[in-house]
Amino acid sequence: MGKFCEVCEKGAMSGHKISHSDRKSNRVWAPNVQRVRVLLNGSPRRLYVCTRCLRSGNVQRALPRMSSNTVA
Ligand SMILES: [Zn+2]
Repeated sequence: MGKFCEVCEKGAMSGHKISHSDRKSNRVWAPNVQRVRVLLNGSPRRLYVCTRCLRSGNVQRALPRMSSNTVA
């Protein structure tokens, strides 16, 4: 959990970490995923969404309820 976007289904990628002496060791790159509330079929749900999907507007954010609504 947390290394997988539930919108574009992007997961972790792997490659080499290369030291100054050119030794290679395995490493992984995880996508920058955030746990956000999104509107899915009109109902808010919590999903793990990568920041690219958030930035490009692939999801509709379910905005938290304003506290000022209860005051006024
Ligand atoms: Zn994504």
